[in-house]
Amino acid sequence: MTTAPRIISGTLMLPAPESRVRLASGTIKVLNGRISDMKEGEPHPSPDLGGEHALILPGFVDAHMHLPQFDSIGVDGMTLLDWLDRAIFPAEAAWADPDHAESVATRAARSLLSFGTTAICAYATVHHEGARRAIRSIAQSGMRAMIGQVLMDRNAPPDLSRPAKVLIAEAASLTDWTGTLAVSERARVEHSINPRFAVSCTPELLAGTGELVTRLGAPMQTHLSESRAECELIAKLFGGRSYTGVYEDAGLLGPRSILAHGIWLDDAERATLASTRSIVAHCPTANTFLQSGDCNVASLWRAGVPIAIGSDIAGGNERSMVRVARAMIETAKRVRLASGNGDVPSPAEAWWSITGGNANAIGWSSTSRLAPGAEADILIVKPDIPWMRSPDPLGTLLYAWDDRWIESTLVRGRAVPD
Ligand SMILES: [Zn+2]
Repeated sequence: MTTAPRIISGTLMLPAPESRVRLASGTIKVLNGRISDMKEGEPHPSPDLGGEHALILPGFVDAHMHLPQFDSIGVDGMTLLDWLDRAIFPAEAAWADPDHAESVATRAARSLLSFGTTAICAYATVHHEGARRAIRSIAQSGMRAMIGQVLMDRNAPPDLSRPAKVLIAEAASLTDWTGTLAVSERARVEHSINPRFAVSCTPELLAGTGELVTRLGAPMQTHLSESRAECELIAKLFGGRSYTGVYEDAGLLGPRSILAHGIWLDDAERATLASTRSIVAHCPTANTFLQSGDCNVASLWRAGVPIAIGSDIAGGNERSMVRVARAMIETAKRVRLASGNGDVPSPAEAWWSITGGNANAIGWSSTSRLAPGAEADILIVKPDIPWMRSPDPLGTLLYAWDDRWIESTLVRGRAVPD
């Protein structure tokens, strides 16, 4: 069905060379969920959305987060492994009730959209029906997403640890089922294969998961080298093999593999990630909240590892990707202060990271950018400060950012939540 074009006008945040953004006034035409035309120049005199003082941004992409942890933000005072046992596994166990799973996922989608996030890479839980409900709920929200049923068969509470063969069969069937969603939803959501992390996966489960990823050509999400205690446990569980090597042995590395954190890596591991084009999802707010460490992102960049950034809700306490982008800069500054070297991203690079940069890393090349042909995931923003007069408008927008500035969030041209 063809819909009437919508005219959106204001100051546009546009892609710029060298992984940056730039600002320019102009007008966007949206038709059938996509940007059909875009012109720089004087703003349109009577747009449907925006206006002379409006800022028009692409929707934000969150490259790593956990839907069932949405109500567990801010449970403080623990490091990763204790926090999982005491705060997170009980919250995930509640997803045995599919109605509860659907309710949390629906609420999470509404909240994330209100914060400007229009695309997510997410985890459900080990529960098959709960994962299915979460996928359907996110699909119905209109978000772009990859979501996986969590796979765990050891080092987890009995009700969250399930046999490898069962989990692999369920993950395969969920990928097939996602392909049966309505065409309008299917185009935006895919099932990913999500072994939680090697601590909670036997070699049998990891190997089966690797075969599944290869056979289905599915994306893969997991965690890598987040805390020192976790890394020591991996060395014990896998006979001293490097953490990255464990995933390499299982066939889990590749250009559609997203590995969250990657803090405590050595040069050989960084080289392996780079040569397989595996993506590290940097989660700076989570790394501070759980006191896991400051990731030296510059060392990953220099090694040629593709980088995305994520909120890691609820290890990360921030739902806004703008504040995650700030935290990325703050982490890079701390790394440079401590080590005497390392690049610090500019605000222009930070804005790109949470929009087209994340989308490109994940393989969503038509998402989260203002460009003809792109999906119309767009934020209409009305800042209440004179940011245009700042000597560094992108820095001012980043650091003075207020979520209340978001006047509306569009997914494929439609205002959400309804
Ligand atoms: Zn995580």
